Amino acid sequence: MIALKNQDLLRTQGYINGKWVNAKNNTTFSVLNPFDQSIITNVADLGVAETKEAIEAANEAWSAWRSKTAKERGQCLLRWAEQVRNNLSDLTLLLTTEQGKPLEQSKMDINYIPTLIEWFAAEAMRLHGQTITPLVENIRLMTIRQPIGVVAAIAPWNFPASLCMQQCVPAIAVGCTVVFKPAEQTPLTILALARLSELAGLPPGVFNVIPCEKPAEIGKEFTTNPLVRKLCFTGSTATGKLLAKEAASTIKKITLELGGNCPFILFADANVDAAIDQAIELKFLNAGQVCNGINRFLVEDSIYDDVVAKFVEKAKKLKVGAGIESDTTMGPVISEAAIKKIERLVEDAVKKGAQIKLGGKSDPKGKWIYQPTVLSDVPIEADMFHEEIFGPVAPFYRFKSEEEALRLANDTKYGLAAYFYTQNPDRIHRLSEALEAGLVGANTTSVFGETLPFGGCKESGIGREGGVVGSLDGYCEIKTIATGSFGT
Ligand code: ADP
Repeated sequence: MIALKNQDLLRTQGYINGKWVNAKNNTTFSVLNPFDQSIITNVADLGVAETKEAIEAANEAWSAWRSKTAKERGQCLLRWAEQVRNNLSDLTLLLTTEQGKPLEQSKMDINYIPTLIEWFAAEAMRLHGQTITPLVENIRLMTIRQPIGVVAAIAPWNFPASLCMQQCVPAIAVGCTVVFKPAEQTPLTILALARLSELAGLPPGVFNVIPCEKPAEIGKEFTTNPLVRKLCFTGSTATGKLLAKEAASTIKKITLELGGNCPFILFADANVDAAIDQAIELKFLNAGQVCNGINRFLVEDSIYDDVVAKFVEKAKKLKVGAGIESDTTMGPVISEAAIKKIERLVEDAVKKGAQIKLGGKSDPKGKWIYQPTVLSDVPIEADMFHEEIFGPVAPFYRFKSEEEALRLANDTKYGLAAYFYTQNPDRIHRLSEALEAGLVGANTTSVFGETLPFGGCKESGIGREGGVVGSLDGYCEIKTIATGSFGT
């Protein structure tokens, strides 16, 4: 049992139309602590019937919610932000317990939530239409933005709370209502956020949460129910493709934020030490389970050996263990399947010629802890050059010219983020434009925040989450209104 200051935030039921509900057939599923696989609690395992009810409730709630002024909706959201601020430590503890990451990292995720709510609450008051100059007589033209309707949203387990809010808050701010499905591994922080939305006075039906163990049938209902007007999905490319196919049956608007295979390119003319510090931080954040995390280190030949040696020295300082312990800097990965995938990719790379400079195996401290791992001279034939590792493994590749670095960086079906480090201003512009990625970090890895459109090109997704472009206005239909005049 987890001991919160406010035990009322440990919710184990679904939240539909302002009511806390069990599964109709009373089934539950266990939520595990990924550090020791102990059961934290059991949560209602909702199914298709409950999902249909939630969608209908969201549809009912929509007309009153959209009729409120943007200011009224904003005020309601600000009360939600305040509730979150009043409960930061409990939310942080919940997140670390169900997700495994160190408390410091959970704190960062949770602190982001009220900031995000406040920004969208204000920004939704500034969504404007246009007047358009007519090209013929006796007509006036304008556009207005209107909320799209019921939004169904699905987020993963790596940043469960902040990614959920990144999807749901802008939708709610512009006047949509939401049915949200958390990942089966991490429903608890989101259910606590739902309780806080209730205390903040968000009207019933505006934000609904459907915890479940088997997501496929809920996904099918989301994609095929005609009352759902938009689907937002953050997760793997494989699941995204499946949902996009299903959603085509009802021509739903979709936003997909999918996998990545992000390069980190280090040129000899960069501030190398600062670059390595930032690389270490991003690579091992959340035990490497970050969609815009670094999957491939491309380093210029002349500094390669020195960079690998420095990186290894810094990676050695990481302290693996339970997220709850204050000196832990890296926790477990999320599941047995995650460990197996990392092991397979490392084994494959080593078989093909990579050298293990650090780690390379799981850690005795915990069944699901993989040691911080550094591999050098990884051949591009290795599976990990093409596949997302999603674990604490840093593979290093060499390049000899900018042209080669660019070719290697773009040699992937993904296009989420790309990072590069150089002090050459011309190169900064050239590469920023030439890298095939939705997010480019030039001498920085900070490409995420409530004000920034976040998302990928190629098979990394469709649309953007965060910011005004794509996110806030992605929950609106643009309506063109032409008004004729008979000149009377
Ligand atoms: P991962 O492999 O990282 O867990 P997934 O894409 O499987 O990535 O999971 C991300 C989210 O998608 C989770 O909330 C999960 O429950 C959900 N999910 C997985 N499969 C489906 C599906 N067939 N339909 C709807 N949601 C799904």
